[in-house]
Amino acid sequence: MNTYQDTYKHKGLRLQLVELLKQKGIVDQLVLDAVSKLPRHFFLPHEFDSHAYEDKAFPIGEDQTISQPYTVAYQSQLLQLKQNDKVLEIGTGSGYQGSVLSLCGTQVYSIERHAKLSENAASTIKKVNALGLNIQMNMFVGDGTKGLAEHGPYNKIIVTAGAPSVPKALVKQLTIGGLLVIPVGGEKDMQRMVRITKIDATNIKTEVFEQFSFVPLLGENGWK
Ligand code: SAM
Repeated sequence: MNTYQDTYKHKGLRLQLVELLKQKGIVDQLVLDAVSKLPRHFFLPHEFDSHAYEDKAFPIGEDQTISQPYTVAYQSQLLQLKQNDKVLEIGTGSGYQGSVLSLCGTQVYSIERHAKLSENAASTIKKVNALGLNIQMNMFVGDGTKGLAEHGPYNKIIVTAGAPSVPKALVKQLTIGGLLVIPVGGEKDMQRMVRITKIDATNIKTEVFEQFSFVPLLGENGWK
């Protein structure tokens, strides 16, 4: 398969992936539509092209990974996305998760600690947009454990790396009623998905969901 074309074969494999996500409990139509439109094979190194629509994580360089499609859809669904939500993503990685958020009609701010990955993601998004999609992402390089206060507050924040605890800076940058979805765990490679709702300036609600295994969130308010 040619990596920079979106063939009928790729489109067919994407529809099968969407069916699998539905079977696994993803019901948010905004998210399912975004996955069905987005050519995931553009976001992977060429050697994984024929595996792009398997429900698996793959290496993207710098010792990092593109998350499994189920994980992307699961976190996106927990965010209860609405058109025009302002969303902050911590961990741009390949740019795939941020692109799903953008295709859901949200305004995306995404921060990555590896400049090289951020550059690669920007270049991938250009190639994807050349197919006729309109992915818009405001991209930054830095330590996302501190959030991105200069562009906040955000209705939604998603963290795509495993945190030892919930960084207070992120809760602070949520609007009242806003949601933060973050994998949290005391071990570097095992987390539970947590959703924080900001009730008011001093109160939050915490919900705990399924177990996942993410690469670690490294930084001042993450793993050292
Ligand atoms: N969302 C990504 C995607 O769609 O490809 C997957 C991200 S990968 C599982 C986690 C990413 O978080 C890695 O690219 C890693 O470099 C990044 N990361 C880890 N700690 C970070 C931090 N403090 N600030 C920003 N990015 C961070």
